[in-house]
Amino acid sequence: MRDVYGREISYLRLSVTELCPLRCRYCMPEEGVCKLRHEDLLTEEEMLRAVRTAAGLGITKVRITGGEPLTKPNILSICRGVSGTPGIRETVLTTNGIRLPELAVSLREAGVSRVNISLDTLDEGKYAYMTRRGHLQDALAGIRCALDAGFEKVKINAVLIGGFNDDEIPQLAALTQRWPVDVRFIELMPMPGNQSFGSESYIPVMKVLKCLPDAVPCDEDGVASLYRLPGALGHIGLISPVSRHFCAGCNRIRLTADGRLKPCLHSAEEFSLKGLSDAGMAEQFRRAIRAKPECHGQLDAVNRSLTRRGMSQIGG
Ligand code: SAM
Ligand code: SF4
Repeated sequence: MRDVYGREISYLRLSVTELCPLRCRYCMPEEGVCKLRHEDLLTEEEMLRAVRTAAGLGITKVRITGGEPLTKPNILSICRGVSGTPGIRETVLTTNGIRLPELAVSLREAGVSRVNISLDTLDEGKYAYMTRRGHLQDALAGIRCALDAGFEKVKINAVLIGGFNDDEIPQLAALTQRWPVDVRFIELMPMPGNQSFGSESYIPVMKVLKCLPDAVPCDEDGVASLYRLPGALGHIGLISPVSRHFCAGCNRIRLTADGRLKPCLHSAEEFSLKGLSDAGMAEQFRRAIRAKPECHGQLDAVNRSLTRRGMSQIGG
């Protein structure tokens, strides 16, 4: 379905839980988020009906996310249901990677074709600091298991944070020379709950290129500009939601774990699907797509996202 600005909306980001065992400082408060009541969450049946409804309106790609999707007890059944939905051509998943050693092979069998794994640093102490309770070795083990499980593509997502990991750009980029992975640097976004990051933390992703003089430009891949290092097995991706937003080409809509459709990551507007019939869900999808704003406003340490939810409550 096209929105009022002519953009074809074909990509649904489905958050299956707002919970996560980690507490990344840019994503979640230390005490975690207020747990939703069980009766307010979408059931698996409702999630899959929402995906079926979305497919009927032209959605072809679903990203399963959260919170941490691999903590959801019925995650394999959800993935199987999504990938088996007529019209859904790509089922992909974003994870912190920690449970991939147990789940990678089953996820692949459940129809997940590609995974994105978050990894902001290769330093054990910095990883423990930023995630507040994670261990670097667990995330690295997850990446290795994803590579062994035969996904079509494994991507590593690193949020670029001035004063935290901008000194590790060459080492993170060099992972593309060690493994067949894409490493994508993503600009930090000013979301509710991460006000403690000052203006020095927000650095344009173009800074990555200054640290990689040998990187050669390649094509674009969705929202990422791609580059390649000599002898690399994968690409470097630069994603700039803050310094050069990509609203004009935005093809996404988001569904939260409590059943709210969000036309834009950075707006407060939401449309509930909870408890609705198929026809009711379809009408809410149409309303949400029609309500998609042309563009979000300026984002930086002062001009913050207008959404009332943190990233883990939306589905990053
Ligand atoms: N738990 C999973 C993970 O960490 O990959 C999936 C959910 S997480 C919210 C999805 C992605 O959003 C992660 O790659 C994370 O780094 C990114 N993210 C969270 N907060 C962000 C922020 N304020 N700015 C930019 N990216 C953010
Ligand atoms: Fe959890 Fe992912 Fe948020 Fe980190 S970024 S707290 S792993 S949901």
